[in-house]
Amino acid sequence: MTGLPPLEERRPQFRASKFTCPHCQMYTPHEWSTLRRIKASRTSRESVPLEGDNTRMAVASYAEAWWTSVCASCEQPSVWRHERMLYPLRLGGAAHEDMPTEVRELFEEATAVAAVSRRAGAAMARTTLERLIKVLDPSAPSGATLAVLNDRLRPRISATLGQRLDIVRVAGNGAVHVDQAPGDLVVLALDDASGPQLLELMLATANDLVDELISRPKLTSTLWDKTPAGRASTSPAS
Ligand SMILES: [Zn+2]
Repeated sequence: MTGLPPLEERRPQFRASKFTCPHCQMYTPHEWSTLRRIKASRTSRESVPLEGDNTRMAVASYAEAWWTSVCASCEQPSVWRHERMLYPLRLGGAAHEDMPTEVRELFEEATAVAAVSRRAGAAMARTTLERLIKVLDPSAPSGATLAVLNDRLRPRISATLGQRLDIVRVAGNGAVHVDQAPGDLVVLALDDASGPQLLELMLATANDLVDELISRPKLTSTLWDKTPAGRASTSPAS
């Protein structure tokens, strides 16, 4: 283990001294300051608190509502208002480097939309996973349910990953089919505490599927090709 705190403690949080940077995806220290603007006159330039409302009463609280956090590693800023990150608009990690192109786009859209709407983000994350599973199992019958698709994949993946697919199948279902399955599952996707967890679980599951079914076989094949037997046969078949 790397000694990192659990995922939920690494998520960006208002005024946290360290969190996973939404730009570079590293768990890094962040420096916080209130957002200010440059007020220029003919003779001077000064930085003053950001003002947006005309009512004098609201100015102080308006200025206090805006913050920026700058990553110590990549030096990119994030902008916050009322304790919520507004920029960059994303929730969840980055797509695996071997994520198929046709799935990557959905993955990135899910992380972007989740910052605005948790339910939309969870729906997109589930769609991402479904698309990925279809790419990984092209001979699956069209219209197969996620339960069927999961069962087809199970022999090819680790037990832990299989279990996570089952959680996603049950939990993510509520996030998408709101009318058919109202209640706890939808709440899970909307809830501040478990909503991001569900989204992260779905996206992390997508990344792990790519790792187990694309990256590792690719690495094995590359290493095999470097062995004498591999060079002789040019094929990893046993
Ligand atoms: Zn960064």
